[in-house]
Amino acid sequence: MYCNYCGKVIQDDANVCAYCGVRIGASQARSRLVRPRSGRKIAGVCLGFAEYFDVDVTLVRVVWLIASCTTIIGFLSYPIAWIVMPEEPPVVAAPAPIAKTATNP
Ligand SMILES: [Zn+2]
Repeated sequence: MYCNYCGKVIQDDANVCAYCGVRIGASQARSRLVRPRSGRKIAGVCLGFAEYFDVDVTLVRVVWLIASCTTIIGFLSYPIAWIVMPEEPPVVAAPAPIAKTATNP
């Protein structure tokens, strides 16, 4: 498949473009509710929900903050979600094909 941003050919199962670093098809590929490692403010709970439901992360944070200030359930839901939600699996940086062959003895 092709990267939508730089137009280069990338792996079909790639989540991130190896050339420009843009996340590819995040809403389609991400089927599980996880806390992303990049772009998080506190624990990545709001970012995880935003990516899972494909909504703006700022909207999720504002709604969550209002809920936390107004209701005890909203206040408790963040640490509970922090504990319950698994962390995103570490992204293994795919080496460039040219560098791979060059280091081969
Ligand atoms: Zn790209």
